[in-house]
Amino acid sequence: MNEYDSAKMSDVLRACEGMIQTERPEDADVILFNTCSIREKAEDKVYSDLGRVRMLKLSKPKLLIAVGGCVASQEGAAILKRAPYVDVVFGPQTLHRLPQLLRARRSTGLSQVDISFPEIEKFDHLPSPVQRHPEGPQANPGAAYVSIMEGCSKYCTFCVVPYTRGEEVSRPVADVINDVEELAGRGVKEVTLLGQNVNAYRGIGDDGDTVDFAYLLQSIAAQEGIERLRYTTSHPRDMSQRLIDLYATQPKLVSHLHLPVQSGSDRILAAMKRGHTVLEYKSIVRRIRAVRPDICITSDFIVGFPGETEQDFEATLKLIDEVGFDSSFSYLYSPRPGTPAAELRDGTPIEVKAARLKRLQNRIEELEADVARGMLGTIQRALVEGISKKDGKELAARTDNNRIVNFRGAKEMIGQFVEIRITGVVRHTLRGELV
Ligand code: SAM
Repeated sequence: MNEYDSAKMSDVLRACEGMIQTERPEDADVILFNTCSIREKAEDKVYSDLGRVRMLKLSKPKLLIAVGGCVASQEGAAILKRAPYVDVVFGPQTLHRLPQLLRARRSTGLSQVDISFPEIEKFDHLPSPVQRHPEGPQANPGAAYVSIMEGCSKYCTFCVVPYTRGEEVSRPVADVINDVEELAGRGVKEVTLLGQNVNAYRGIGDDGDTVDFAYLLQSIAAQEGIERLRYTTSHPRDMSQRLIDLYATQPKLVSHLHLPVQSGSDRILAAMKRGHTVLEYKSIVRRIRAVRPDICITSDFIVGFPGETEQDFEATLKLIDEVGFDSSFSYLYSPRPGTPAAELRDGTPIEVKAARLKRLQNRIEELEADVARGMLGTIQRALVEGISKKDGKELAARTDNNRIVNFRGAKEMIGQFVEIRITGVVRHTLRGELV
């Protein structure tokens, strides 16, 4: 999502102001920070990074510094108090107003702050959709992101997103389809649909009725040229039977699902206000696997939520084994200002939490390696994304179940599907050869 927003900022400035990206901060006329406030660490980083560019501004007074994203949304004008040399503060919903804000700063000489939530307006004022990694060595002409909804209305007790990005707002189907058609025309074969809770999508269809995520997926899959569909992130509460049934009938939907569960303890899930139990989560997994047995399921976990006991943590490890999660994201709980969980008493020492996180990550790594080993000898249809990051000589391709395979091939294959036999596994990275 942040990568997508950053690409949009760059698009907006290119379209309105003719700006291009520079490689070095010293060459820039404007420096933008796109920030994340999901955990405290990400937020602290913003202020230390700002401190570094302050020095540049001393030697180049015309340099403008802008801070966008969720830290901007949460802190607003407080950023100017702590870092008065910042010129513009804008939120995730006002990134399209960036050119006006920069112009206003230049003409008035006053710092500008706009962190409002003008709802869907953002989507109406953005230039064409973005390709994944549009610049740099990882340029991938075959895959693109399409944002379909914004915000979150779930209000999990740990999470800051509803306060920084606002409530769920979906784009109309026709607007999404326009983006997809344009991308397909440019040779894009795989789209990743983005949103905080994509499966909560409720957009206006062509006849004016509200349609759901399953309907949107079918409409996109019907577009000529689009061969693969991914989406992230989804919420278990919105995993409807209609969506699960699509895994039986829609082969363009990839065999990878990122479905955050956070914890394997019902007590903790209730305290987090997730709105589902462990059994309900397992039921979703069971129904999807019934129609797509080879699907890889990944998740997000929060370790050390206030009041998490050893027993609760063991329940999470048990769920991990039962589901057999593939590579997942796991974090230590980070209290966020303004969220209900930040008020809860938290008596677990940090060393205990850190040891639990390590155990959980070790277990997931083992399962991840099992998935990779299980792919040895198989033939995978993979989309070539670019030059491999590893040695810069080989190509890197993404499999249907979201694994990167490095292999020898010609540069012309970038952006195309190829068939690769998996010949080796180093930890969880795959090696292969063209079939
Ligand atoms: N749709 C997702 C869901 O089901 O919750 C929302 C994705 S959320 C924006 C990204 C992830 O950040 C969450 O799944 C959660 O694991 C993590 N996260 C959010 N708030 C956190 C906090 N206060 N401390 C630690 N991790 C947090």
